[in-house]
Amino acid sequence: MERIDVAIVGGGPAGTSAAWTAAQHGADAVVFEKGVPRADRENLGPDSTDAAGLLDYWVDLMGFTPDEIPDDVILTRLTGADFIGPSADISIDNTGIDSAYPHFGCAFHRARFDDWLRGRAEEAGGRYEIGDSVTDIETNPENGYSHTLTLSSGDQFEATSLVLADGPQRTVTIDTLDQFTPAGQSIADVLDPSVVNHIAYQEHRKVPEELYDPHRLKFWWGVMPGHTAYPWVFPNDQSVARIGLTMPIGLDIDDYNHRDWSLLRADDDKIPRGNVYIERLLEQEYPEYDIDDFPLVEDRGKRDGTETYAISSTRPIESPTQANIAVVGGAMGGTSAFHEGGDHVAVRTGKIAGKLAAQGRLEEYNERWQAALDTEMVRNVTMADLVRGYGPADWDRAFKTTDTMVNRGEYSLFGVLKSGLSGLKLFREYQQTRRQFTDSDYVQFEESAYSL
Ligand SMILES: Cc1cc2nc3c(=O)[nH]c(=O)nc-3n(C[C@H](O)[C@H](O)[C@H](O)COP(=O)(O)OP(=O)(O)OC[C@H]3O[C@@H](n4cnc5c(N)ncnc54)[C@H](O)[C@@H]3O)c2cc1C
Repeated sequence: MERIDVAIVGGGPAGTSAAWTAAQHGADAVVFEKGVPRADRENLGPDSTDAAGLLDYWVDLMGFTPDEIPDDVILTRLTGADFIGPSADISIDNTGIDSAYPHFGCAFHRARFDDWLRGRAEEAGGRYEIGDSVTDIETNPENGYSHTLTLSSGDQFEATSLVLADGPQRTVTIDTLDQFTPAGQSIADVLDPSVVNHIAYQEHRKVPEELYDPHRLKFWWGVMPGHTAYPWVFPNDQSVARIGLTMPIGLDIDDYNHRDWSLLRADDDKIPRGNVYIERLLEQEYPEYDIDDFPLVEDRGKRDGTETYAISSTRPIESPTQANIAVVGGAMGGTSAFHEGGDHVAVRTGKIAGKLAAQGRLEEYNERWQAALDTEMVRNVTMADLVRGYGPADWDRAFKTTDTMVNRGEYSLFGVLKSGLSGLKLFREYQQTRRQFTDSDYVQFEESAYSL
Protein backbone atom coordinates (compact mmCIF):
# COMPACT_ATOMS: atom_id res chain seq x y z
CA MET A 1 0.00 0.00 0.00
CA GLU A 2 1.41 3.39 -1.00
CA ARG A 3 1.74 5.95 1.77
CA ILE A 4 1.10 9.62 1.05
CA ASP A 5 0.81 12.81 3.08
CA VAL A 6 -2.48 14.26 1.81
CA ALA A 7 -5.21 12.32 -0.03
CA ILE A 8 -7.79 14.44 -1.82
CA VAL A 9 -11.02 12.86 -3.05
CA GLY A 10 -12.37 14.75 -6.07
CA GLY A 11 -10.56 16.87 -8.64
CA GLY A 12 -13.05 19.76 -9.03
CA PRO A 13 -12.11 23.34 -8.10
CA ALA A 14 -12.04 22.48 -4.38
CA GLY A 15 -9.90 19.33 -4.62
CA THR A 16 -7.52 20.77 -7.18
CA SER A 17 -7.00 23.88 -5.09
CA ALA A 18 -6.26 21.72 -2.05
CA ALA A 19 -3.68 19.73 -4.05
CA TRP A 20 -2.09 22.93 -5.28
CA THR A 21 -1.47 24.51 -1.87
CA ALA A 22 -0.62 21.18 -0.21
CA ALA A 23 2.06 20.55 -2.84
CA GLN A 24 3.27 24.15 -2.63
CA HIS A 25 3.84 23.59 1.07
CA GLY A 26 5.89 20.48 0.54
CA ALA A 27 3.37 17.66 0.95
CA ASP A 28 3.10 14.56 -1.22
CA ALA A 29 -0.48 15.30 -2.27
CA VAL A 30 -2.57 13.03 -4.50
CA VAL A 31 -5.96 13.85 -6.04
CA PHE A 32 -8.21 10.83 -6.61
CA GLU A 33 -10.66 11.71 -9.36
CA LYS A 34 -13.04 9.15 -10.84
CA GLY A 35 -12.66 10.85 -14.24
CA VAL A 36 -15.33 11.91 -16.68
CA PRO A 37 -14.89 12.07 -20.49
CA ARG A 38 -15.68 15.26 -22.41
CA ALA A 39 -15.65 15.77 -26.15
CA ASP A 40 -13.44 18.85 -25.75
CA ARG A 41 -10.85 17.23 -23.47
CA GLU A 42 -8.37 14.62 -24.65
CA ASN A 43 -8.11 12.65 -21.43
CA LEU A 44 -10.39 12.01 -18.50
CA GLY A 45 -10.82 15.00 -16.21
CA PRO A 46 -13.03 16.17 -13.38
CA ASP A 47 -16.78 16.28 -13.86
CA SER A 48 -16.79 19.93 -14.99
CA THR A 49 -20.27 21.38 -15.30
CA ASP A 50 -20.47 23.85 -18.17
CA ALA A 51 -22.07 26.34 -15.84
CA ALA A 52 -19.65 29.00 -14.84
CA GLY A 53 -19.93 32.63 -13.94
CA LEU A 54 -18.03 34.73 -11.45
CA LEU A 55 -18.86 38.02 -9.79
CA ASP A 56 -16.08 40.56 -9.28
CA TYR A 57 -15.57 40.01 -5.56
CA TRP A 58 -15.60 36.22 -5.97
CA VAL A 59 -12.26 36.56 -7.78
CA ASP A 60 -10.88 38.23 -4.64
CA LEU A 61 -12.42 35.55 -2.44
CA MET A 62 -10.65 32.87 -4.50
CA GLY A 63 -7.40 34.72 -3.85
CA PHE A 64 -6.66 35.42 -7.53
CA THR A 65 -5.43 38.69 -8.95
CA PRO A 66 -7.66 40.05 -11.77
CA ASP A 67 -5.24 39.18 -14.58
CA GLU A 68 -4.25 35.79 -13.21
CA ILE A 69 -7.09 33.85 -14.85
CA PRO A 70 -5.90 32.98 -18.36
CA ASP A 71 -7.66 34.68 -21.26
CA ASP A 72 -8.78 31.43 -22.86
CA VAL A 73 -10.68 30.54 -19.67
CA ILE A 74 -12.80 33.71 -19.91
CA LEU A 75 -15.68 33.52 -22.38
CA THR A 76 -17.08 36.98 -21.83
CA ARG A 77 -16.71 39.89 -19.44
CA LEU A 78 -19.93 41.01 -17.84
CA THR A 79 -21.23 44.52 -17.27
CA GLY A 80 -24.25 43.59 -15.17
CA ALA A 81 -27.27 41.41 -14.52
CA ASP A 82 -31.00 41.72 -15.07
CA PHE A 83 -33.46 40.21 -12.59
CA ILE A 84 -36.90 39.80 -14.07
CA GLY A 85 -40.00 39.28 -11.95
CA PRO A 86 -43.57 38.66 -13.10
CA SER A 87 -44.26 42.37 -13.51
CA ALA A 88 -41.25 44.23 -12.09
CA ASP A 89 -37.58 43.93 -12.80
CA ILE A 90 -34.28 45.34 -11.73
CA SER A 91 -30.96 45.77 -13.51
CA ILE A 92 -27.72 46.12 -11.63
CA ASP A 93 -24.36 47.16 -13.02
CA ASN A 94 -22.45 46.92 -9.79
CA THR A 95 -22.31 44.16 -7.17
CA GLY A 96 -21.92 46.89 -4.56
CA ILE A 97 -18.95 45.08 -3.02
CA ASP A 98 -15.40 46.40 -3.31
CA SER A 99 -13.24 44.29 -5.55
CA ALA A 100 -10.01 44.42 -7.51
CA TYR A 101 -11.62 42.74 -10.53
CA PRO A 102 -12.40 45.57 -12.98
CA HIS A 103 -15.66 44.17 -14.41
CA PHE A 104 -19.02 43.19 -12.93
CA GLY A 105 -17.92 39.59 -13.46
CA CYS A 106 -17.28 37.08 -16.20
CA ALA A 107 -18.64 33.91 -17.73
CA PHE A 108 -15.94 31.31 -18.10
CA HIS A 109 -15.17 27.93 -19.61
CA ARG A 110 -15.33 25.61 -16.64
CA ALA A 111 -13.41 22.69 -18.15
CA ARG A 112 -10.53 25.02 -19.09
CA PHE A 113 -10.69 26.59 -15.62
CA ASP A 114 -10.43 23.14 -14.02
CA ASP A 115 -7.55 22.20 -16.34
CA TRP A 116 -5.75 25.44 -15.51
CA LEU A 117 -6.07 24.76 -11.77
CA ARG A 118 -4.88 21.21 -12.31
CA GLY A 119 -1.85 22.44 -14.28
CA ARG A 120 -0.90 24.67 -11.35
CA ALA A 121 -1.30 21.85 -8.87
CA GLU A 122 0.85 19.53 -10.98
CA GLU A 123 3.52 22.20 -11.50
CA ALA A 124 3.70 22.53 -7.73
CA GLY A 125 4.22 18.75 -7.45
CA GLY A 126 0.66 17.52 -6.82
CA ARG A 127 -0.22 14.17 -8.38
CA TYR A 128 -3.42 12.89 -10.00
CA GLU A 129 -4.85 9.37 -9.99
CA ILE A 130 -7.64 9.57 -12.55
CA GLY A 131 -9.98 6.81 -13.71
CA ASP A 132 -11.04 5.02 -10.53
CA SER A 133 -13.56 6.08 -7.92
CA VAL A 134 -12.74 6.07 -4.26
CA THR A 135 -15.13 3.44 -2.94
CA ASP A 136 -14.20 3.25 0.72
CA ILE A 137 -12.33 5.24 3.35
CA GLU A 138 -11.45 3.86 6.73
CA THR A 139 -9.92 6.00 9.43
CA ASN A 140 -7.48 4.39 11.83
CA PRO A 141 -7.49 6.18 15.19
CA GLU A 142 -4.11 4.71 16.14
CA ASN A 143 -1.06 6.79 15.33
CA GLY A 144 -2.95 10.09 15.19
CA TYR A 145 -5.70 9.18 12.74
CA SER A 146 -4.51 8.04 9.32
CA HIS A 147 -6.82 7.02 6.47
CA THR A 148 -6.95 4.00 4.18
CA LEU A 149 -8.54 4.74 0.81
CA THR A 150 -9.75 1.92 -1.43
CA LEU A 151 -10.28 2.57 -5.14
CA SER A 152 -12.68 0.77 -7.49
CA SER A 153 -9.59 -0.95 -8.96
CA GLY A 154 -8.89 -2.47 -5.53
CA ASP A 155 -5.74 -0.35 -5.07
CA GLN A 156 -5.24 1.09 -1.61
CA PHE A 157 -3.44 4.18 -0.32
CA GLU A 158 -2.72 5.26 3.23
CA ALA A 159 -2.79 8.99 3.92
CA THR A 160 -1.91 11.09 6.94
CA SER A 161 -4.52 13.74 6.10
CA LEU A 162 -7.72 13.54 4.11
CA VAL A 163 -9.46 16.27 2.12
CA LEU A 164 -13.00 15.40 1.02
CA ALA A 165 -13.80 17.30 -2.18
CA ASP A 166 -16.31 14.91 -3.75
CA GLY A 167 -18.80 17.69 -4.55
CA PRO A 168 -22.51 17.98 -3.75
CA GLN A 169 -23.23 14.28 -4.31
CA ARG A 170 -20.94 13.51 -1.34
CA THR A 171 -20.26 9.99 -2.59
CA VAL A 172 -17.77 9.27 0.21
CA THR A 173 -18.16 12.24 2.55
CA ILE A 174 -21.26 11.02 4.37
CA ASP A 175 -19.95 7.52 5.17
CA THR A 176 -16.53 8.85 6.09
CA LEU A 177 -17.91 11.42 8.51
CA ASP A 178 -20.40 8.93 9.91
CA GLN A 179 -17.45 7.13 11.48
CA PHE A 180 -17.56 10.01 13.98
CA THR A 181 -21.21 10.96 14.28
CA PRO A 182 -22.86 10.01 17.57
CA ALA A 183 -24.99 6.84 17.63
CA GLY A 184 -28.38 7.32 16.00
CA GLN A 185 -27.23 10.34 13.99
CA SER A 186 -25.86 10.68 10.49
CA ILE A 187 -24.34 13.50 8.52
CA ALA A 188 -27.05 12.60 6.01
CA ASP A 189 -29.48 14.21 8.46
CA VAL A 190 -28.08 17.56 7.32
CA LEU A 191 -26.35 16.79 4.01
CA ASP A 192 -28.43 14.07 2.29
CA PRO A 193 -27.98 14.90 -1.42
CA SER A 194 -31.46 13.68 -2.30
CA VAL A 195 -32.99 16.16 0.14
CA VAL A 196 -30.78 19.24 0.39
CA ASN A 197 -29.48 19.51 -3.17
CA HIS A 198 -31.14 21.25 -6.08
CA ILE A 199 -31.29 19.89 -9.56
CA ALA A 200 -29.80 22.07 -12.29
CA TYR A 201 -30.45 21.62 -15.98
CA GLN A 202 -29.12 23.66 -18.84
CA GLU A 203 -28.80 23.83 -22.60
CA HIS A 204 -26.35 25.52 -24.93
CA ARG A 205 -28.39 27.43 -27.49
CA LYS A 206 -27.51 29.78 -30.31
CA VAL A 207 -29.44 33.00 -29.67
CA PRO A 208 -30.64 35.26 -32.51
CA GLU A 209 -28.02 38.03 -32.91
CA GLU A 210 -30.51 40.82 -32.21
CA LEU A 211 -31.45 39.26 -28.84
CA TYR A 212 -27.96 38.27 -27.75
CA ASP A 213 -26.30 40.51 -25.18
CA PRO A 214 -22.78 39.18 -24.58
CA HIS A 215 -22.28 41.16 -21.38
CA ARG A 216 -25.36 40.64 -19.22
CA LEU A 217 -26.73 37.79 -17.15
CA LYS A 218 -30.49 37.31 -16.97
CA PHE A 219 -32.40 35.68 -14.15
CA TRP A 220 -36.16 35.21 -13.84
CA TRP A 221 -37.66 35.00 -10.36
CA GLY A 222 -41.24 34.21 -9.37
CA VAL A 223 -42.03 32.31 -12.57
CA MET A 224 -41.66 28.71 -11.37
CA PRO A 225 -42.45 27.16 -7.98
CA GLY A 226 -39.95 26.02 -5.36
CA HIS A 227 -37.55 27.66 -2.96
CA THR A 228 -34.82 29.45 -4.95
CA ALA A 229 -36.09 27.94 -8.21
CA TYR A 230 -35.25 30.13 -11.19
CA PRO A 231 -34.22 30.08 -14.84
CA TRP A 232 -31.29 32.00 -16.30
CA VAL A 233 -29.45 33.00 -19.45
CA PHE A 234 -25.66 33.18 -19.30
CA PRO A 235 -23.96 34.55 -22.43
CA ASN A 236 -20.93 32.54 -23.47
CA ASP A 237 -19.44 33.48 -26.84
CA GLN A 238 -20.35 33.58 -30.55
CA SER A 239 -23.96 34.33 -29.59
CA VAL A 240 -24.19 31.02 -27.77
CA ALA A 241 -25.75 31.18 -24.33
CA ARG A 242 -26.35 28.67 -21.59
CA ILE A 243 -30.04 28.68 -20.85
CA GLY A 244 -30.80 26.79 -17.68
CA LEU A 245 -32.61 26.55 -14.40
CA THR A 246 -32.36 25.19 -10.91
CA MET A 247 -35.08 23.89 -8.59
CA PRO A 248 -35.40 21.78 -5.46
CA ILE A 249 -35.60 18.01 -5.91
CA GLY A 250 -38.96 16.28 -5.42
CA LEU A 251 -41.48 19.14 -5.72
CA ASP A 252 -45.12 18.03 -5.87
CA ILE A 253 -47.26 19.79 -8.48
CA ASP A 254 -50.31 19.42 -6.21
CA ASP A 255 -48.74 21.92 -3.81
CA TYR A 256 -48.89 24.70 -6.41
CA ASN A 257 -51.60 26.56 -8.26
CA HIS A 258 -50.71 26.86 -11.93
CA ARG A 259 -52.32 30.31 -12.07
CA ASP A 260 -49.62 31.68 -9.74
CA TRP A 261 -46.63 30.63 -11.83
CA SER A 262 -46.27 31.71 -15.44
CA LEU A 263 -44.24 28.64 -16.44
CA LEU A 264 -46.86 26.17 -15.18
CA ARG A 265 -49.87 25.07 -17.26
CA ALA A 266 -53.36 23.95 -16.21
CA ASP A 267 -52.81 20.43 -17.55
CA ASP A 268 -49.43 19.83 -15.84
CA ASP A 269 -49.81 16.64 -13.83
CA LYS A 270 -46.25 16.82 -12.54
CA ILE A 271 -43.53 19.45 -12.19
CA PRO A 272 -42.27 20.05 -15.75
CA ARG A 273 -38.89 18.71 -16.81
CA GLY A 274 -36.07 21.20 -17.36
CA ASN A 275 -36.32 21.19 -21.15
CA VAL A 276 -40.07 21.89 -20.96
CA TYR A 277 -39.50 24.82 -18.63
CA ILE A 278 -36.88 26.28 -20.97
CA GLU A 279 -39.10 25.97 -24.01
CA ARG A 280 -41.89 27.74 -22.10
CA LEU A 281 -39.52 30.46 -20.91
CA LEU A 282 -38.36 31.20 -24.46
CA GLU A 283 -41.96 31.24 -25.72
CA GLN A 284 -42.97 33.60 -22.92
CA GLU A 285 -40.05 36.01 -23.26
CA TYR A 286 -39.69 36.03 -27.03
CA PRO A 287 -43.23 35.38 -28.36
CA GLU A 288 -42.33 36.57 -31.85
CA TYR A 289 -39.71 33.81 -32.14
CA ASP A 290 -39.95 30.07 -32.42
CA ILE A 291 -37.90 27.60 -30.33
CA ASP A 292 -36.14 26.61 -33.58
CA ASP A 293 -34.73 30.15 -33.72
CA PHE A 294 -32.64 29.10 -30.68
CA PRO A 295 -31.00 25.91 -31.99
CA LEU A 296 -29.20 23.59 -29.57
CA VAL A 297 -25.40 23.74 -29.91
CA GLU A 298 -23.94 20.29 -29.55
CA ASP A 299 -20.19 20.88 -29.86
CA ARG A 300 -19.62 22.43 -26.43
CA GLY A 301 -18.31 19.48 -24.50
CA LYS A 302 -21.56 17.88 -23.38
CA ARG A 303 -23.54 15.34 -25.37
CA ASP A 304 -26.62 16.83 -27.11
CA GLY A 305 -25.69 20.30 -25.79
CA THR A 306 -27.46 19.69 -22.49
CA GLU A 307 -26.43 18.77 -18.96
CA THR A 308 -28.12 17.88 -15.69
CA TYR A 309 -26.32 18.28 -12.39
CA ALA A 310 -26.87 18.36 -8.69
CA ILE A 311 -26.10 21.67 -7.05
CA SER A 312 -25.59 22.00 -3.33
CA SER A 313 -28.14 24.23 -1.68
CA THR A 314 -27.77 24.10 2.03
CA ARG A 315 -25.64 25.42 4.86
CA PRO A 316 -22.08 24.33 5.64
CA ILE A 317 -20.82 21.85 8.19
CA GLU A 318 -17.62 21.94 10.18
CA SER A 319 -15.05 19.20 9.66
CA PRO A 320 -13.74 16.65 12.18
CA THR A 321 -10.26 18.14 12.00
CA GLN A 322 -9.03 16.23 15.04
CA ALA A 323 -9.28 13.16 12.82
CA ASN A 324 -7.15 14.94 10.18
CA ILE A 325 -10.12 15.42 7.87
CA ALA A 326 -11.23 18.58 6.05
CA VAL A 327 -14.41 18.73 3.96
CA VAL A 328 -14.29 21.42 1.28
CA GLY A 329 -16.43 23.08 -1.44
CA GLY A 330 -19.73 21.52 -2.49
CA ALA A 331 -19.17 18.48 -0.27
CA MET A 332 -19.33 20.60 2.90
CA GLY A 333 -22.54 22.34 1.84
CA GLY A 334 -20.68 25.60 1.44
CA THR A 335 -22.02 26.46 -1.98
CA SER A 336 -25.43 27.82 -2.84
CA ALA A 337 -28.05 27.29 -5.53
CA PHE A 338 -29.48 30.64 -4.49
CA HIS A 339 -26.97 32.48 -6.65
CA GLU A 340 -25.18 29.45 -8.19
CA GLY A 341 -22.23 30.55 -6.14
CA GLY A 342 -19.77 27.87 -5.57
CA ASP A 343 -16.52 28.00 -7.40
CA HIS A 344 -15.16 30.75 -5.19
CA VAL A 345 -16.10 28.90 -2.00
CA ALA A 346 -14.70 25.67 -3.46
CA VAL A 347 -11.37 27.23 -4.42
CA ARG A 348 -10.97 29.14 -1.17
CA THR A 349 -11.85 26.29 1.20
CA GLY A 350 -9.67 23.93 -0.86
CA LYS A 351 -6.70 26.28 -0.70
CA ILE A 352 -7.01 26.69 3.06
CA ALA A 353 -7.39 22.95 3.69
CA GLY A 354 -4.47 21.94 1.44
CA LYS A 355 -2.05 24.34 3.05
CA LEU A 356 -3.03 23.43 6.62
CA ALA A 357 -2.93 19.69 5.83
CA ALA A 358 0.61 20.05 4.47
CA GLN A 359 1.67 21.98 7.56
CA GLY A 360 0.06 19.48 9.97
CA ARG A 361 -2.25 22.24 11.25
CA LEU A 362 -5.61 20.98 10.06
CA GLU A 363 -7.10 21.69 13.48
CA GLU A 364 -7.21 25.36 12.41
CA TYR A 365 -9.31 24.64 9.32
CA ASN A 366 -12.83 25.40 10.63
CA GLU A 367 -11.75 28.67 12.15
CA ARG A 368 -9.79 29.69 9.05
CA TRP A 369 -12.49 29.05 6.44
CA GLN A 370 -15.02 30.88 8.55
CA ALA A 371 -12.72 33.86 8.91
CA ALA A 372 -12.23 33.93 5.14
CA LEU A 373 -15.84 33.38 4.07
CA ASP A 374 -17.96 34.54 6.98
CA THR A 375 -19.41 37.64 5.31
CA GLU A 376 -20.24 35.75 2.12
CA MET A 377 -21.85 32.86 4.03
CA VAL A 378 -23.96 35.16 6.21
CA ARG A 379 -25.14 37.16 3.19
CA ASN A 380 -26.14 34.06 1.27
CA VAL A 381 -27.88 32.10 3.98
CA THR A 382 -29.69 35.29 5.01
CA MET A 383 -30.91 36.01 1.49
CA ALA A 384 -31.87 32.37 0.85
CA ASP A 385 -33.80 32.31 4.12
CA LEU A 386 -35.45 35.66 3.49
CA VAL A 387 -36.95 34.55 0.16
CA ARG A 388 -38.10 31.13 1.40
CA GLY A 389 -41.80 30.99 0.61
CA TYR A 390 -41.69 33.99 -1.76
CA GLY A 391 -44.46 33.93 -4.37
CA PRO A 392 -44.60 35.97 -7.59
CA ALA A 393 -46.05 39.08 -5.85
CA ASP A 394 -43.26 39.00 -3.26
CA TRP A 395 -40.64 39.01 -6.01
CA ASP A 396 -42.29 41.98 -7.67
CA ARG A 397 -42.37 43.84 -4.36
CA ALA A 398 -38.72 43.00 -3.68
CA PHE A 399 -37.58 44.13 -7.13
CA LYS A 400 -39.45 47.41 -6.93
CA THR A 401 -38.00 48.14 -3.52
CA THR A 402 -34.51 46.96 -4.33
CA ASP A 403 -34.41 49.06 -7.48
CA THR A 404 -34.87 52.15 -5.35
CA MET A 405 -32.49 50.95 -2.65
CA VAL A 406 -29.71 49.74 -4.91
CA ASN A 407 -29.82 51.78 -8.06
CA ARG A 408 -30.75 55.06 -6.49
CA GLY A 409 -29.16 54.72 -3.10
CA GLU A 410 -26.24 52.28 -3.38
CA TYR A 411 -27.48 50.12 -0.46
CA SER A 412 -27.59 53.22 1.74
CA LEU A 413 -30.00 54.28 4.43
CA PHE A 414 -30.88 57.10 2.03
CA GLY A 415 -31.92 54.47 -0.52
CA VAL A 416 -34.00 52.68 2.06
CA LEU A 417 -35.73 55.92 3.02
CA LYS A 418 -36.37 56.82 -0.59
CA SER A 419 -37.98 53.46 -1.20
CA GLY A 420 -40.45 54.24 1.55
CA LEU A 421 -42.26 51.85 3.83
CA SER A 422 -41.73 48.76 1.70
CA GLY A 423 -38.00 49.49 1.64
CA LEU A 424 -37.87 49.79 5.39
CA LYS A 425 -39.81 46.56 5.77
CA LEU A 426 -37.47 44.67 3.45
CA PHE A 427 -34.43 46.20 5.12
CA ARG A 428 -35.76 45.25 8.56
CA GLU A 429 -36.58 41.71 7.42
CA TYR A 430 -33.05 41.36 6.08
CA GLN A 431 -31.47 42.64 9.28
CA GLN A 432 -33.64 40.40 11.46
CA THR A 433 -32.91 37.30 9.39
CA ARG A 434 -29.22 38.16 9.24
CA ARG A 435 -29.00 38.36 13.01
CA GLN A 436 -29.80 34.62 13.24
CA PHE A 437 -26.70 33.75 11.28
CA THR A 438 -23.98 35.92 12.77
CA ASP A 439 -21.33 34.31 15.03
CA SER A 440 -21.09 31.32 12.64
CA ASP A 441 -24.70 30.31 13.35
CA TYR A 442 -24.99 29.34 9.67
CA VAL A 443 -22.92 26.22 10.46
CA GLN A 444 -25.33 23.32 10.68
CA PHE A 445 -23.05 20.67 12.20
CA GLU A 446 -20.34 21.85 14.55
CA GLU A 447 -17.02 20.16 15.17
CA SER A 448 -17.93 19.62 18.83
CA ALA A 449 -20.81 17.35 17.72
CA TYR A 450 -18.45 14.69 16.32
CA SER A 451 -17.58 11.90 18.74
CA LEU A 452 -13.81 11.96 18.69
C1 LIG B 1 -25.86 24.09 -13.37
C2 LIG B 1 -24.87 24.68 -12.40
C3 LIG B 1 -24.57 26.03 -12.49
C4 LIG B 1 -23.57 26.56 -11.67
N1 LIG B 1 -23.18 27.84 -11.90
C5 LIG B 1 -22.18 28.35 -11.16
C6 LIG B 1 -21.69 29.65 -11.44
O1 LIG B 1 -22.13 30.32 -12.36
N2 LIG B 1 -20.70 30.13 -10.64
C7 LIG B 1 -20.18 29.41 -9.60
O2 LIG B 1 -19.29 29.89 -8.91
N3 LIG B 1 -20.63 28.17 -9.32
C8 LIG B 1 -21.60 27.63 -10.09
N4 LIG B 1 -22.06 26.38 -9.82
C9 LIG B 1 -21.56 25.69 -8.62
C10 LIG B 1 -20.19 25.09 -8.85
O3 LIG B 1 -20.22 24.31 -10.01
C11 LIG B 1 -19.84 24.22 -7.65
O4 LIG B 1 -19.97 24.99 -6.48
C12 LIG B 1 -18.42 23.70 -7.75
O5 LIG B 1 -18.33 22.83 -8.85
C13 LIG B 1 -18.06 22.95 -6.50
O6 LIG B 1 -16.73 22.48 -6.66
P1 LIG B 1 -16.24 21.18 -5.91
O7 LIG B 1 -14.82 21.00 -6.30
O8 LIG B 1 -16.59 21.28 -4.50
O9 LIG B 1 -17.14 19.99 -6.48
P2 LIG B 1 -17.28 19.43 -7.98
O10 LIG B 1 -16.96 20.46 -8.98
O11 LIG B 1 -18.62 18.79 -8.01
O12 LIG B 1 -16.16 18.32 -8.06
C14 LIG B 1 -16.27 17.07 -7.40
C15 LIG B 1 -15.39 16.08 -8.14
O13 LIG B 1 -15.31 14.90 -7.37
C16 LIG B 1 -15.33 13.79 -8.22
N5 LIG B 1 -15.77 12.65 -7.41
C17 LIG B 1 -16.94 12.55 -6.74
N6 LIG B 1 -17.00 11.39 -6.05
C18 LIG B 1 -15.82 10.77 -6.27
C19 LIG B 1 -15.27 9.52 -5.81
N7 LIG B 1 -15.94 8.73 -4.96
N8 LIG B 1 -14.05 9.18 -6.25
C20 LIG B 1 -13.33 9.98 -7.10
N9 LIG B 1 -13.81 11.16 -7.55
C21 LIG B 1 -15.05 11.55 -7.13
C22 LIG B 1 -16.28 14.19 -9.35
O14 LIG B 1 -16.05 13.46 -10.53
C23 LIG B 1 -15.95 15.68 -9.51
O15 LIG B 1 -14.98 15.91 -10.51
C24 LIG B 1 -22.98 25.78 -10.66
C25 LIG B 1 -23.34 24.44 -10.54
C26 LIG B 1 -24.27 23.88 -11.41
C27 LIG B 1 -24.60 22.44 -11.28
